Amino acid sequence: MIVQIDCLVKNYPDVRAVDGLDLEIPDGQLFAFLGPNGAGKTTTIRILAGLTRMTSGAVRIGGVDIERHPRAAKRLCGLAAQQINLDGELTVLENLDFHGRLFAIPRPRRLARAEELLDYVELGGRRDSLVKTLSGGLKRRLMLARALLHEPRLLILDEPTVGLDPAIRRKVWGLIKKANADGVGVFMTTHYIEEAEFLADRVAFMHQGRLVADGPPTAIMKRLGGWAVDRYGPTGMTTEYYADRAAAAERLELGGAAATLRRVNLEDAFLALTGKRVQ
Ligand code: ATP
Repeated sequence: MIVQIDCLVKNYPDVRAVDGLDLEIPDGQLFAFLGPNGAGKTTTIRILAGLTRMTSGAVRIGGVDIERHPRAAKRLCGLAAQQINLDGELTVLENLDFHGRLFAIPRPRRLARAEELLDYVELGGRRDSLVKTLSGGLKRRLMLARALLHEPRLLILDEPTVGLDPAIRRKVWGLIKKANADGVGVFMTTHYIEEAEFLADRVAFMHQGRLVADGPPTAIMKRLGGWAVDRYGPTGMTTEYYADRAAAAERLELGGAAATLRRVNLEDAFLALTGKRVQ
């Protein structure tokens, strides 16, 4: 297991942000955490990455207990936080080099690794640009490269494509998939349902500090049936779910122009479980 979380609790003065979370993630899995604002996703990620102390429970990364051996656990993780936290006054290469120094990677190795990763995220041509001159999409790609620099076994990504346009988002998805195909486990959060559907082997929904569903996206969607009919009425939109298309189509005809037929998506499953939209 790359991640083992046992009965994790995090209390803040006014709220229990994580409420007895149990989660095991096998090596190499691409796992996505979904949930509305304030569900406790970032808190969980910050605990995994060693940035926030837990109130109680136990977390192991690659078998290493993060409270007892924080430095060893941190070495196994590569984090790309929600906020862009690169040094804008340094160049692209200098940002990577600085990160490599923090992990005490010998200079020849860290420079070779930095060049390799700049090619990987297609930023080789910008290696000497000041980071403050890069677009948001390029900064996100650099954050991924930095997270991978010390060869972690687990990539921790908090909203890795937030604020990016759809084409650039797809580029970042490709990079995440590629890292995962190379054997790196991924633990990510997202508000973008299609991102989770496209990327993840497994998704878990968090709501008020607890997991309310966990499994492969297709299995979670199947619970509602394969088809949805949205009906628009005077009080707003309602959605009905059907296991087969023919039954849904029959219902659609009854609804006339004020109804549409579509496939069930993860957003439906999420809404049904939590009563809230993810975004
Ligand atoms: P979002 O999608 O908005 O990032 P989230 O699921 O990541 O939400 P968290 O940021 O983990 O949620 O927040 C969970 C709860 O803990 C929220 O009620 C939040 O207000 C609270 N919280 C988070 N960080 C702190 C803090 N440093 N001090 C006090 N309360 C906090």
